[in-house]
Amino acid sequence: MMRKIVAGNWKSNKSINESREWMSEMAVEIDNLPSNVRVMIAPPTPYLSSLADNNHPRILIASQTVSATGTGAYTGEYTAEMLVGCGVDFALIGHSERRASFGETDEIVVDKIARCMESGLGVILCCGESLKVRDAGDQNDFIATQLSSSLSNVTGVDESKFVIAYEPIWAIGTGRTASSEQAGEMHAFIRTWLTDKFGEDTSSQISILYGGSCKPSNADELFSNKDVDGGLIGGASLKVSDFCAIIKASANS
Ligand code: PEP
Repeated sequence: MMRKIVAGNWKSNKSINESREWMSEMAVEIDNLPSNVRVMIAPPTPYLSSLADNNHPRILIASQTVSATGTGAYTGEYTAEMLVGCGVDFALIGHSERRASFGETDEIVVDKIARCMESGLGVILCCGESLKVRDAGDQNDFIATQLSSSLSNVTGVDESKFVIAYEPIWAIGTGRTASSEQAGEMHAFIRTWLTDKFGEDTSSQISILYGGSCKPSNADELFSNKDVDGGLIGGASLKVSDFCAIIKASANS
C-alpha cells in the first residue's frame, strides 16, 4: 500500500473557471511528479462532478463533506452513494471547521463513516485538539477519545480507503504550524492507537496525514517523521506551484 498522500482542501474558494484552470495546470505537472505519492483534491461540492469527469487519472477527487443520511427526503443533502456515482473517491469527515460551525458531532461522524464504508467511498477522518487542550497537555487523551468515539462501530477497515488526518485546530489557517516534534509525537501516538484497534498489519498501512499551515517551506521537516505520511493542505493547495512543491517534499521524505 502506498502510504504517502498529499490532499488539498480548497474549502469555499475558487470559481468553477478557476477550478478548471487549476486542474488543467495540475494535469500537466503531475506527469513529472514522483509516482510514490497519491495526490488528491477536495474542491467545492458543486464542481465535483464536472471536475471528476475531466480528470487526470492520477488526481483523486475528494468531497469536503458527505451526508450522514441515505436516499430519501433530505433536502439539500447528498449521499455517499451519489458521490461514488459521480466519480468521487474520498470524503473528508469531521473537519474541525465542520465540527465548530456546522454541528458535526462525533455521533454524526459515526453515521457518516458508516455511509461511506457501505458505499465504498474512501474516508479521511479528521481529528485535532484545541489550543486549550494542547496547553493543558491533554492532547493524547483528547485524540484517543475522538478516535474511539468516531470509530466505535468500526471493527475493520480497507487500508486503501481509510485515512486519518491529524489537524491541530490551533494550526489550521493560522500560519502557526505544529513543530516537527509535536507532529511526530502525535502521529506515533495515533499509529499505536490504530495498532491497538486494528492490529499491526492494518495499522502499518494506514496513511496518517498532518494538516495545519503546511506549506513548501515547512513540508520537508514535517514529513521527515516516519509516521507523517503526507499532508492535508488548505491555503497552500490553492496554487498549483505550492501544492506541487509539497508533493515533492512528501515524495522525497
Ligand atoms: C485544513 O483546513 O485542512 C488545513 C490544513 O488548512 P491550512 O493548511 O490552510 O491550515
